[in-house]
Amino acid sequence: MDALAWGRKAAKILGLSRPEGGAESRRRPHIEAVRIPRAEHPISRKNVSKAALRVLYGLHEAGYQALLVGGGVRDQLLGLSPKDFDIATDAHPEDVKRVFRRCRLIGRRFRLAHVRFGDEIIEVATFRAAPRTPDEGDEDEADDTRHELDDSGRILRDNVYGNLEEDAVRRDFTINALYYDIADYSIVDHVGGMEDIAARRLRLIGDPETRYREDPVRILRALRFAAKLDFHIDPAARKPIPALIPTLLDVPPARLFDELQKMLLCDHASECFAQLESYGLVKLLLPPVAAHLETPPTRELIMAALRSTEERVRADKPVSPAFLLACLLWFPVRQLQDELVGQGMPPVQALAAASDTLFSQLASRVAMPRRFTGMVNEIWQLQHRFLQRRGKRPLRLLEHKRYRAAWDFLELRAQVGDAEAELPGWWEQFAAGQGGEREALQEDAPSGPAPARKRRRRRRGGRGGRSGGQGGGQGGGQGGGQGGGGNSGGGGGG
Ligand code: ATP
Ligand code: MG
Repeated sequence: MDALAWGRKAAKILGLSRPEGGAESRRRPHIEAVRIPRAEHPISRKNVSKAALRVLYGLHEAGYQALLVGGGVRDQLLGLSPKDFDIATDAHPEDVKRVFRRCRLIGRRFRLAHVRFGDEIIEVATFRAAPRTPDEGDEDEADDTRHELDDSGRILRDNVYGNLEEDAVRRDFTINALYYDIADYSIVDHVGGMEDIAARRLRLIGDPETRYREDPVRILRALRFAAKLDFHIDPAARKPIPALIPTLLDVPPARLFDELQKMLLCDHASECFAQLESYGLVKLLLPPVAAHLETPPTRELIMAALRSTEERVRADKPVSPAFLLACLLWFPVRQLQDELVGQGMPPVQALAAASDTLFSQLASRVAMPRRFTGMVNEIWQLQHRFLQRRGKRPLRLLEHKRYRAAWDFLELRAQVGDAEAELPGWWEQFAAGQGGEREALQEDAPSGPAPARKRRRRRRGGRGGRSGGQGGGQGGGQGGGQGGGGNSGGGGGG
């Protein structure tokens, strides 16, 4: 069905235009819910995963309300296939655990149930109430001790349960607060979300500044949804962003990494990067990347990596945060490495030390899990080994578990002139070669850069060191590669 046509229809059902002002009033749950019956919207159980349907029906049969919400509804309304299915319910997390055998409760700041069916994990969130400011009273409400805000208005904990209406108004954008009710297959809209879907408009629920201060990550979410859905950000939601950018520094670095990852590993990664740049967020979150961006071919390499990520996501291939990080941070790490080599440190060691320094510099902004930084290091360290094409080394390199990722990275480097243009092709042929073909390729190949070989010999004789040296400029150590360990990141609540 034509999304826009029914969007217009839905907007009509809604009686259209809510008053432009009065945003704050929308936070309070006195807006009449609009129910759009099954016959008048395109959401279909056919497009909902089996696991999500089992959770919806399981809760419903146990006597609870159960509704699909967020991307699972929004994306279907836009004719896209949802990335995951989030469920909202009036069942408390402990109740959800009683209904499903394979259920785990997670999160302190925002308590959630994860229900597992096969490989799929469905996130089930209990209806939340929006935080109340002191002048809104509710002193008698014992539950409010579980709503903790810090001095700047940031929500530290959000575990006060509420009803469906309250849950709708505490969500971030109107288009994310649309529910598909398994009880009667209708869509429930409390916030004018259908109208915003039809207008392709990203509108925050309530007063934008307050909502960004409660959770500055909503700024990044706004930029991501605008890029990914090709929506415009409502002027009221756009205006406060520049002044609030520094509030992102109060967000735990691990959460910022998760969000950054969602932006840069999506099918609109290059647009998300452009959005980050235009708000000074590359500088804020990834200072060493910003410092190198105008030195060619840094930007070219990053853009090539983002485009390759987009293609892979669109083709449903796995994407690896480690590969992207290897590309983003390659020139910064190389510069640090060169400095250390200049001070007399052997190149392999210098690369390892440079990488430690770089990741610890970044950790105060975006904290990357160790498994990723380990992979990034491997990808980097493998790069110089592509230069060694004689003897038994190439065969050993082919067997390395990061060979594929490292080769992908080599190819991007070659594309932007940071590695010999013929090198990736040679390795491709060598990997595919049968019997004598490999030897012939090896005989034709150059023996590798003299400085690296010299260094290697010296270290071997001296202290039985490790394999090859990194060489400085062209052909130093590098690495990368799509295709290894993806990461889901895990969305969630407020
Ligand atoms: P996608 O999964 O495609 O990235 P999504 O909208 O489903 O998009 P999730 O992170 O999965 O995003 O979150 C599910 C829902 O939870 C959102 O649609 C929104 O209603 C609510 N939500 C998530 N994060 C926040 C937040 N920071 N503040 C308020 N509500 C949020
Ligand atoms: Mg989701």
